[in-house]
Amino acid sequence: MKDENFLKANNARSLWHPMTAPSDSLKNAPTIVTGAQGVRITDLDGHEVVDAVGGLWNVNLGYSCQPVKEAITGQLDRLPYYSIFRGTSNDCVIELAEELRTFFEPDGLTRAFFTSGGSDSVETALRLARQYHKIRGEAGRVKYLSLKKGYHGTHFGGASVNGNANFRTAYEPLLPGCHHIPAPYTYRNPFNETDPARLAQLCLAALEDEIAFQGAATIAAFIMEPILGAGGVIPPHPSFMPGVESICRKHGILLIADEVITAFGRTGAWTGSRLWGVKPDFACTAKAITNGYFPFGAVMIAESVAQVFESDATGKAAIGHGYTYSGHPVGAAAALACLAETKRLNVVENAAARGTQLYEGAKALMAKHDIIGDVRGGHGLMTAIELVADRATKSAPDKAIPARVQEVAYRSGAMIRISGPNIILSPPLILTAADVDVILSALDAGFLAL
Ligand code: PLP
Repeated sequence: MKDENFLKANNARSLWHPMTAPSDSLKNAPTIVTGAQGVRITDLDGHEVVDAVGGLWNVNLGYSCQPVKEAITGQLDRLPYYSIFRGTSNDCVIELAEELRTFFEPDGLTRAFFTSGGSDSVETALRLARQYHKIRGEAGRVKYLSLKKGYHGTHFGGASVNGNANFRTAYEPLLPGCHHIPAPYTYRNPFNETDPARLAQLCLAALEDEIAFQGAATIAAFIMEPILGAGGVIPPHPSFMPGVESICRKHGILLIADEVITAFGRTGAWTGSRLWGVKPDFACTAKAITNGYFPFGAVMIAESVAQVFESDATGKAAIGHGYTYSGHPVGAAAALACLAETKRLNVVENAAARGTQLYEGAKALMAKHDIIGDVRGGHGLMTAIELVADRATKSAPDKAIPARVQEVAYRSGAMIRISGPNIILSPPLILTAADVDVILSALDAGFLAL
């Protein structure tokens, strides 16, 4: 490793950090992480904290998952790369597809298409959705619907269905034919509705209205996260996603579940779709599929969609899509080990129990600190704390405030993530009750310092 002076001097000199203004990284030096063990990370100054961000919602099994590391190194020795484009395959990816089929069968998803990450998975599902309709002779179904505040990655397709202006404006014009409906966000919504069940019905009515306005025969798919993540952890009312599913079915619109965050236990259920009892047509996955140790993803495809592609006699079902790293054997080996460890360590149960502790603890902080306007979560280890300048008006706090909370919380033992006025907590799913207490007391220290 280069010495401390070199790293600090060059942290943002020849390196642009994603999702940050280059001038900001030059002014506020990003924390340089140099090591990690279990659920803790260590920085260049030797300061060790609980990682309440979980990498980037992906290090579900923590940083010391030996079976995954060994699977990666073992596979590098055996077969470091081979493509699965037309005419070739590799043994590891075949085994993984069969494992994923078993894992996702309760969601009705029985085929896998491999990618190198979440944005690739979203792009894949959006493209295959259009192709599905073309095979079936409905070539006019080309539009996409999605939720405001949703996040679907950064490719042009994903950015076009994203529902947050921060990820869109600089890159417009985006894909035509992408339309958004209000998210079931109880704390702030255009209906001023504070009852989650009634709000879900209003958002579903807005979806019906948009479909009627666009014309159902022009719409390929609706894409949504089972729990909105990057948009500020927004769990919908349990009636919402099943409602979306039945509206989509009624109008022949495919349902894409963007499970890049929610698959593999984060919500305290094996998948976000299963949490709500929904069977989507596609599920986009990435992140925790390899515990963040290798860039990898998979789009899971419903049996009914697979049948349309596999029984095509029109010549329209050749998949003109794929990535050099689709089905990478090292990623596949990592994913196989992750699935086995996720089951062996009962992380889904732990995510549910520790998630409740974190959510209840965050609500207790709200009773103590007026700066907190809303606490969202209650489904596994996805919690957001939304800060406000004034609870009555819900006006946004000064931009320096979340950064100040983050800084003090870090010094007090926890790395937290800031997204606008939200503090986002998405720690590894293996953390203990004592680790949750560390996160909560670090947050308390952050709020007390304001
Ligand atoms: N979809 C969702 C729901 C996400 O949260 C993310 C990333 O956070 C993506 C897609 C994009 O994934 P990636 O950053 O791996 O491209």
